Amino acid sequence: MQELLNNIANAALKSEDKGQVATYIPELAKIDPNQFGISIALANGDVFSAGDAHVPFSIQSVSKVFALALALGRVGDQLWQRVGREPSGLSFNSILLLEKEEGIPRNPFINAGALVATDTYLAGSSPREALGELVRFIRAATDDESIHINESVASSELATGHRNFSLAHYLASFGNLRASVDKVLGTYCHQCAVEMTCTQLALAGRFLLEGTDMPKLVSSERRRRINALMMTCGHYDGSGDFAFRVGLPGKSGVGGGILVIAPGRASIAVWSPGLNKYGNSKLGTEAMERIAHETGWSVFGMP
Ligand code: GLU
Repeated sequence: MQELLNNIANAALKSEDKGQVATYIPELAKIDPNQFGISIALANGDVFSAGDAHVPFSIQSVSKVFALALALGRVGDQLWQRVGREPSGLSFNSILLLEKEEGIPRNPFINAGALVATDTYLAGSSPREALGELVRFIRAATDDESIHINESVASSELATGHRNFSLAHYLASFGNLRASVDKVLGTYCHQCAVEMTCTQLALAGRFLLEGTDMPKLVSSERRRRINALMMTCGHYDGSGDFAFRVGLPGKSGVGGGILVIAPGRASIAVWSPGLNKYGNSKLGTEAMERIAHETGWSVFGMP
């Protein structure tokens, strides 16, 4: 396993086409694209890492997996009255379907659906308390008290997040937000600005993996369902492509991170800031394709 990861990291760092770093959040535009890290946490507790696996990065939309777990913990299946479970086939921040579908976002991983999930775990608390709960959840999953929110990234997104503000106002116009738009957006941008290394993220992802000896943070049924949503919706309009190439549930973020679950086997985190045309890490996706191929871990069977 270590040799495979070393080879993948070395090949990635030499790659000519690393994709494009996200520029719409000014703080992310400053990130050096010549970085690549990968970590695999096996169900038995062994961890393997290579490249820049110990460099913290902005997890961005990977945070939506933790937010969904918290929202489901708050309201259970009632969440599905406010957000759907179907892929959208549209970009992560699209507003198109919201009008047609009367303010019910297609799934909790596109931005509109994630705003509803944030609003759900925010209900009845202040943003500070809700974010405290989110960070405690991530720290408990990782067993690492050092995980924190990068304030500069959160402020940078809040100052420029016109599209997310529009989505939130649109949701509010249909009565699908309980808290104020400002509170939801403030909480959402801080949630996306959680910073983790690949090693921390791979460890955190084990709450979605059966067969570990760590304390259970979600029920088995919830874990299966979150994995199903990651498979069908975790890469936006690139979800079909990711399932086709990798065959494992995953959630990407525009910071260039991807969390992938190989059910029963491993939690894998990969990071490279350059993105492909869907807004998912280019080299990260390629690395995951290679891992799935070499290990035979695709849920659809051996290569
Ligand atoms: N904070 C980002 C946004 O809302 C997350 C998008 C992503 O990571 O895909 O635009």
